[in-house]
Amino acid sequence: MSTIQVRLPDGSVREFPQGTTALQVAEAIGPRLAKAALAARIDGVVRDLTTPLEKDCDLEILTWDHPEGREVYRHTSTHVMAQAVKRLWPEAKLTVGPPLENGFYYDIDTPRPITPDDFPAIEAEMRKIIEEDLPIVREEVDREWAKRFFAERGEDYKVLLIDKIPEGEPITIYRQGEFVDLCTGPHLPRTGRIKVIKLMSVAGAYWEGDQRNKQLQRLYGTSFEKQSDLDRYLKQLEEAKKRDHRKLGPELGLFTFKEEAPGFAFWLPKGYTLYRILENWSRSLQEPRGYQEVRTPWLYSSKIYETSGHWFHFRENMFTFESESQAYAVKPMNCPGHCLLYKNEVRSYRDLPLKIAEYGPLVRYEPSGTPSGSRRARGMT
Ligand SMILES: [Zn+2]
Repeated sequence: MSTIQVRLPDGSVREFPQGTTALQVAEAIGPRLAKAALAARIDGVVRDLTTPLEKDCDLEILTWDHPEGREVYRHTSTHVMAQAVKRLWPEAKLTVGPPLENGFYYDIDTPRPITPDDFPAIEAEMRKIIEEDLPIVREEVDREWAKRFFAERGEDYKVLLIDKIPEGEPITIYRQGEFVDLCTGPHLPRTGRIKVIKLMSVAGAYWEGDQRNKQLQRLYGTSFEKQSDLDRYLKQLEEAKKRDHRKLGPELGLFTFKEEAPGFAFWLPKGYTLYRILENWSRSLQEPRGYQEVRTPWLYSSKIYETSGHWFHFRENMFTFESESQAYAVKPMNCPGHCLLYKNEVRSYRDLPLKIAEYGPLVRYEPSGTPSGSRRARGMT
């Protein structure tokens, strides 16, 4: 049997039989590492621990201490959540379920809306799946086979997702027990590897973010290796709520938000004083560094956005309207206007670098319902 050379992060090189999995390498290094292992970085790419190593490679075992390790942990958690939902509501249809920085979600088309009253049942089913310690198996499958497979299971959204995968790209599925998901992974080797889970909230969402599509249930959860880490996270959320700018802004008389202007702040006198102090502080830093301040228009005809490409790529994120049979948009960013400004005179390379600053209000379209204070605002500067 041929052997391969595996280089570890500390620079040491170890020999293993070809086909040894990343997890087996972790076991050879030590039981503690094997126990902590969540995924592997093989030649720079994050992969399943069950990946067989076929040739010489760089290998790093990823644990909870690596963001990529936590991401894999949360990604498997969201599969477990989807599996639990499918066990409770077999007619539910799955769409997409990504990991997030502090948790995960899955957008699911359910026969009836899910409410927090359903959480204990879903969590209990998730714990069962974790206890079953199902092996998680990756499979590369044929495109037509995959479409038939998901169509037969009533997973219509998965069929649509397969159609979006560019021709020639591999199609992979992940199995854990009776549950099969279309997914690029990577994943933990077994469901039992997940320790602490909690459902957080549920919200409406639309397939592909389009309100004309059917409303889905976006089920949010989180997972941790240790109960104490979950407790700390929940406490942090509690503290953040007390300091929520949507609460503090009106309380301190700085700014407020009104239903009539979703996504835009009303700056109150005290808040606007702070606003100007900050703006002037920013100016005081820019001026000695050679910036020249300008003011450009807020409204542009669609022509400029056609030239810049914004019209084709970001039109749905802009506020557009028609006037005198010409399409217009409120500017979502300064750059197209600044390109016109630059073209305003003949320039020489000797003028470079040219430093232009603008405190221009920008407006972006966020579907109503999604603006969330100033974190997903429509108006910004
Ligand atoms: Zn997945």
